[in-house]
Amino acid sequence: MKIDIVSVFPEYFEVLNLSLMGKAQSKGLLEITAHNLRDWTHDVHHSVDDTPVGGGAGMVMKPEVWAECLDDLLELEPPSENGPAEELAFPSSEAEDSPDEAILDFSEIRDDALLDEDAADVMDRDATVEPDGGSDNGATNGTDMAPTQESAPVLIFPNPSAPLFTQRDATELSHAGHLLFGCGRYEGYDARIPEYYRAQGIDVREYSIGDYVLNGGEVAVSVMLEAITRLMPGFMGNPESIVEESYTGEGALLEHHQYTKPAVWRGISVPEILLSGDHGKVDRFRRDEALARTNDIRPDLIEALDCKALDKADRKT
Ligand code: SAM
Repeated sequence: MKIDIVSVFPEYFEVLNLSLMGKAQSKGLLEITAHNLRDWTHDVHHSVDDTPVGGGAGMVMKPEVWAECLDDLLELEPPSENGPAEELAFPSSEAEDSPDEAILDFSEIRDDALLDEDAADVMDRDATVEPDGGSDNGATNGTDMAPTQESAPVLIFPNPSAPLFTQRDATELSHAGHLLFGCGRYEGYDARIPEYYRAQGIDVREYSIGDYVLNGGEVAVSVMLEAITRLMPGFMGNPESIVEESYTGEGALLEHHQYTKPAVWRGISVPEILLSGDHGKVDRFRRDEALARTNDIRPDLIEALDCKALDKADRKT
């Protein structure tokens, strides 16, 4: 799977080199590139935001910069009515000439990308501050990869006012060949950006990861990416471990409790039935516990349950 992430803080994604995600890159299962949105700016301050039309606090991410970046990464021609100025603004082919490396390499991220958000915000508005140049569109790359599946890209914007991202979305997206994430900052991105790319026939999704507001889309993208990629065939060492999990399958319930050894710890015993060796009884016990926990904690999931996902014994529970 090819994954492009666009952010004003691409270094956030260094964590993707760790653990299973790092291994998946080494194996060639994932090809992740974190891009700096400011590489598609042309002004001396590398501005990506402007004041909200209609007034209000904060700043909004500019459509022009995002469009240059997204046209480039989606390999779309900019509309001709924008004229030669827009075409001139197209980034060079540097992103394609990226070095051979399987794992994310953040060594080329521009120094000014390491500024904290407040500083970057000030930089956008303060004409006296001049960040240094740097035009490497691809902070990372991996040409030494297994060939990625050829399929239409999916463009994803994290957004707290969008529908909730669920395990169902993660499952669907785990089959995609190319995901392109756009991380919002400030008050968010201009609403015409997703609208425009939808009109170009691109599969554009906007997702919230929960009913709270984060400073930016980077953490939300990391969350979605982890949920999606662990469902890819070959990602988990033991594929069985993702079959019976919370929110998974037709009868999506919360999982039963898990225990390990010792059988008694600090005076608390594991449920005796789990030590019985009777697999039928263990399965029934776990199923009952999953149903009871879901009913207590997430009754909405019980209400949404398809009756076909229940058996006779469940109905007694
Ligand atoms: N003004 C926006 C609102 O009230 O809905 C909040 C903007 S937030 C400070 C900046 C960016 O963080 C958003 O554009 C989005 O990319 C990301 N973000 C914040 N909270 C999020 C959430 N719960 N789910 C997904 N993305 C989120």
